[in-house]
Amino acid sequence: MDIKKILDYQKQDFEIIKLERKLDESQDKKIYQEMRNVVKDAQNKSNNLEKEAGELIKQYAEMKKNYDMEVKACGEIVSKDPKSLKVDELDKTVSKTNQMIESISLLEKKLMSFAEHVNSVLAEFDSTRKRYNDARKKYTEHKEAYEAMSNKLLPEIEKLKQEIKKLEKDIDPVFLQKYKQRRQDKVFPIFVPLVDKTCGGCRMELPSASIDRLKQNGFLECEHCRRIIYNQ
Ligand SMILES: [Zn+2]
Repeated sequence: MDIKKILDYQKQDFEIIKLERKLDESQDKKIYQEMRNVVKDAQNKSNNLEKEAGELIKQYAEMKKNYDMEVKACGEIVSKDPKSLKVDELDKTVSKTNQMIESISLLEKKLMSFAEHVNSVLAEFDSTRKRYNDARKKYTEHKEAYEAMSNKLLPEIEKLKQEIKKLEKDIDPVFLQKYKQRRQDKVFPIFVPLVDKTCGGCRMELPSASIDRLKQNGFLECEHCRRIIYNQ
């Protein structure tokens, strides 16, 4: 095989890989993807809080109804003229009134702590809303920046790809296939020289039998890193 042609191909391909990496490792991409998750989380959180708030409002209405009923009943008893009541009736009324006052005060306490709970849910709802809006804004900004870069780089990559495609016809299809497979697996460079007695990619020392085979065939696949070692 003509190693020079392969190395030319690999060299030009490296220009493509650099551009692809630039896109892949873009901070804007990283941030907008993170923000997409934050937005999703905030949406879920906000949906859950909305459900919780709905439940709380129902519970509150129920408690308020009980409270109003107790207050009304208490008012009715108190408004009765004590002079019209017999002694035992009066005793019962006093004890019932005391019970009601106790029950009303308990309900009042419950309502107050309930109101606190409602407030904390509302506050959480607000902060979630804010987190959602901030993340949404950041998402849009960084996505736009990434897309601007991508719109600039993708045609460049495409152009270079067309150019190196012309070189493929001069490369042994078996090697080309091995090359493409390893490239896909993010191995690069793929063709590396023999350096002393080691693989020029991973620097693993090769047994002398392998070196003999390499010298005989002109190439050898590194068992450690799968790169193709050539004899320079
Ligand atoms: Zn290796």
